[in-house]
Amino acid sequence: MEFETLYNFSYTLIKSFEETKDRNDLVENFSKALRLFFSVDELKIYLMDEYSFLLKDFTKPWENLVQNNKNIKIKQKFDNFLIQKSNFEIEENILYFPICQKNKTLGIVKLKLCDKIDPNNDFFKILPLVIAQISMLTATLKNKEIIKISSKFHQTVRNIAKITETQYEPDYILPIMGEMIDKFISEHLIYIFIKNKNKKEYKLIWPKNCSDTKIYEYLEEITPKSPTIIKQEGKMGIFPLIVDSKAYGAIVAYNHFDKITKKEIEYLEEIKQQAQITLSKAKSYVEVLEYATIDALTGYNNRHQFEKRLKETIASAKRQNQPLCCIMSDIDFFKKINDTYGHAVGDYVLKTVAKTIKKELREEDIASRYGGEEFIFLLPHTKLDEAIVVAERLRNQVEKKKINIEEYNIQNTKEISVTISIGVSEFNKNDKEAQMLYKKADNALYKAKEQGRNQVVVYN
Ligand code: GH3
Ligand code: MG
Ligand code: MG
Repeated sequence: MEFETLYNFSYTLIKSFEETKDRNDLVENFSKALRLFFSVDELKIYLMDEYSFLLKDFTKPWENLVQNNKNIKIKQKFDNFLIQKSNFEIEENILYFPICQKNKTLGIVKLKLCDKIDPNNDFFKILPLVIAQISMLTATLKNKEIIKISSKFHQTVRNIAKITETQYEPDYILPIMGEMIDKFISEHLIYIFIKNKNKKEYKLIWPKNCSDTKIYEYLEEITPKSPTIIKQEGKMGIFPLIVDSKAYGAIVAYNHFDKITKKEIEYLEEIKQQAQITLSKAKSYVEVLEYATIDALTGYNNRHQFEKRLKETIASAKRQNQPLCCIMSDIDFFKKINDTYGHAVGDYVLKTVAKTIKKELREEDIASRYGGEEFIFLLPHTKLDEAIVVAERLRNQVEKKKINIEEYNIQNTKEISVTISIGVSEFNKNDKEAQMLYKKADNALYKAKEQGRNQVVVYN
């Protein structure tokens, strides 16, 4: 009888652990196994966090338990197990037992039953084995998590190092970095600030807003020699970005509930190192590329060259009294492509869209990458109604294009497609500055986004 129960228990637990994907699964499967002995009302596992020395709910490791009065009792019970090394404690319908490994008490299990506990239950005969088994399973799960995090970390650093392969404008690089770091350190809010060159104050670059005004005060403390600054009782880490020996900006990590851990600080410090290298590289690229004209990813004109061509094209339209139009495009929900399939696929999509559009243009049209996933096209000798037809054709061709991503081996997805939104504007010789032409197109593009994307809107 005893052997059979033990066998069933172990079998249930180990079998279900094979299907365990996360901590919630583990608790659920453990409670399923416990139901062989008891009618279980609630099962909770608490583990001692090795960085903060706080006892934490196994399924909610980011919540700070000590701040929660209700759970002080758990801490007391845990301390009892630390001192007495006893096997279990019963309190009416609640059973507490420790999680131990190699004689170390790692945590505590709180098992609430529907009925009063019978100390003669078979369960108590095999309790040491239960403890050994659940300890082993939690440790295995934690190790798996550590391996996964470490591989995600290396991927993040690699991705940040690779950004300059496709762009070098800090305005575009920094938000991409923000997204990458945010995806990796998901339990904290991540902000990126940079120092405004003229006003010497910090401005938020990523994400769109930050309601915590205190951060700006802390940022003022940054000097070119600043190490990591810890604030808000350890809940906020400020990682100064020092580029070419100057205070350039900062990555800020903040968790409302909990202290930032030593390990997270280590990760973020290394990420920040890479971010500094990438930014410094981008800066020197910009200097060198002042003479370059082509965007490496798309083969289009780069932004610098665009501004030059814009002036020339406008001058020529004026001289010849010829019409000139501007088309501005932006890929719809492009962030989602990066998030779902990774940055490499994002780059490939960008390249493919650029190629698809290029096929539709005439030799004399001027295609430029304005930045990120925004393109600008100048169409000399083209009236507005003709430009609208072209824009509609570009939109349609991109929508139809099946982008083959088989070689990236992602979630068995073979093909994806994207859409673009477009704004169109026509040159007006009364405009005061050249930039008006694309600002109008940008304005129309904004409307196209607002009205639901995948459409062409004309500025009027
Ligand atoms: P929408 O334009 O429809 O409003 O949504 P969106 O998701 O496209 O939004 P947004 O224009 O704000 O985001 C553009 C994203 O493009 C952000 C950035 O991660 C990504 N991106 C910019 N440049 C590159 C690049 O060179 N490669 C890759 N993979 N992604 C880039
Ligand atoms: Mg977009
Ligand atoms: Mg965009």
